[in-house]
Amino acid sequence: MSVTMAPVCGALGCSDDADVVVDHPNHGERVVCADHADGQEVVGDV
Ligand SMILES: [Zn+2]
Repeated sequence: MSVTMAPVCGALGCSDDADVVVDHPNHGERVVCADHADGQEVVGDV
């Protein structure tokens, strides 16, 4: 039995698979896809 917890992008209206963790100025750390990581500080990979 394997359970894959695939994180999903945290941006509103986006359901892409998350790629990175960013440090958002308002929301703190959150996972987002590569597109939505643009312009934010990337602090880790998913
Ligand atoms: Zn996204």
